[in-house]
Amino acid sequence: MKITNYINGNFHNPIEDNWIDNYNPSDGTVYGQIPNSSKEDVENAYIAAKSTFPSWSQTTFEERSRILIKISELLEANLERFAEAESKDNGKPVSLAKSVDIPRAASNFRFFGNAITQFTSESHESVGQDAINYTLRQPIGVVGCISPWNLPLYLFTWKIAPAIAAGNCVVAKPSEVTPMTAYLLGEICNEAGLPKGVLNIVHGLGSTTGQAIIEHPDIKAISFTGGTATGAHIAKVAAPMFKKLSLELGGKNPNIIFADCDYEDMLQTTVRSSFANQGQICLCGSRIFVEASIYDKFKTDFVAKVKGLKVGHPSDTDTNIGALVSQQHLNKVKDYIQIAKDENATVLCGGNEVIVKGFEHGYYLEPTVLEVPTDDCRVNQEEIFGPVVTVMPFNTENDVLQMANKVKYGLSATLWTNDLKRTMHMSNKLQAGIVWVNTWMLRDLRTPFGGVKDSGVGREGGFEALRFFTEAKNVCIKY
Ligand code: NDP
Repeated sequence: MKITNYINGNFHNPIEDNWIDNYNPSDGTVYGQIPNSSKEDVENAYIAAKSTFPSWSQTTFEERSRILIKISELLEANLERFAEAESKDNGKPVSLAKSVDIPRAASNFRFFGNAITQFTSESHESVGQDAINYTLRQPIGVVGCISPWNLPLYLFTWKIAPAIAAGNCVVAKPSEVTPMTAYLLGEICNEAGLPKGVLNIVHGLGSTTGQAIIEHPDIKAISFTGGTATGAHIAKVAAPMFKKLSLELGGKNPNIIFADCDYEDMLQTTVRSSFANQGQICLCGSRIFVEASIYDKFKTDFVAKVKGLKVGHPSDTDTNIGALVSQQHLNKVKDYIQIAKDENATVLCGGNEVIVKGFEHGYYLEPTVLEVPTDDCRVNQEEIFGPVVTVMPFNTENDVLQMANKVKYGLSATLWTNDLKRTMHMSNKLQAGIVWVNTWMLRDLRTPFGGVKDSGVGREGGFEALRFFTEAKNVCIKY
């Protein structure tokens, strides 16, 4: 099948007739082609967005809200179709796409459809100066949204929904390895009555299509989720043009387990926070630190549970771990397992590719637990982004704080304890944008989301996202 660009409400082949193969990770076959869009395709998307901006930015917030909520309802009505497409493109279990990815994409539209109706401006009376200030929140114009492959529609819509809710028009690029649900979203937007040109989707490689978006002088804001190196590159390109940037980047998140935690709860959640979506979530707790007094017990229990996870075809209902997203990514993750061995880590379980019967060319890997000798080895410092976690013991709160913070990343951290003082102390000191205590990935879309250090700049979520996608203009009137 051929995926095409969605520009001005219509589907278009790329101008240069340049196509990229799209693989199904569960069996390694090519099942489609996507455009490798050129600068000219991006320019056409920009022109459509620019021409629509004057009318869209003047549409009442009730009308914008109505359309966003309609998109949300249509996504829900098409749950099965979207979940199957997401799984086929990404390799994740269909059950996960059905329970997490697609419902969350629908929630993104519903949430921002509602949030825009509550997004108010401020006024300040300058007492004694006979003046009043009010602050307008005006849409920026044409904005760029670029997203990764791990949670394709979930993250794509997490950017698009607030951007269009705030009155902007969008030029967006999904990851080139997972373009399918973004393509299907175009149809849904038309059906929901989204005016032509509000959302424009161009497919292609980061180095061509993505680069054309970030280099475009009149795309004045970029919301990006992806790797830290790409984020740094975007920042460099965008700086001379003074583009507004929101960068959600990599993570190497600590999962810190104290002996006083609710053990069973912790164990169950730790399996999930380690291996959900094949460990390909920026929020996964890939470094597990366990208080020494329960370390041996934890190791035994955790490894037993991990060995019970079923690696299998994404369509099988009992599959826990599907396929990794690509051959290239599988190779990268396998390389890290070798690096761990070279650095004297012990493989407590996993570490091998899995051949799934009938799908021998798929990209499957066992969930892998590595016991590492020190916290500064490479597998404990670098983002692997696969079904691989490290474990090591700690003795004191201060020791574990130091190790937890001794990475370049600072996206999220998870803490397991029932001690209130410790909770407060550690939550304050952990260098992360998000701290979960006795839970993981419990998301409330009103809360700010983002990282510190090399995990990014800016916050998404709630009014933070609406603030990002608007410019504040203060008007001061003397009376
Ligand atoms: P990449 O940085 O490789 O790619 C992300 C997106 O950027 C893709 O659409 C990619 O296109 C595009 N891109 C690549 N180069 C450029 C460029 N020069 N100009 C513009 N766009 C470009 O990340 P991955 O897709 O590999 O995603 C995995 C990463 O994303 C991990 O590091 C993960 O931690 C991070 N992530 C962060 C999250 C957060 O919220 N902080 C959430 C989820 C993931 P193409 O597909 O062609 O490469």
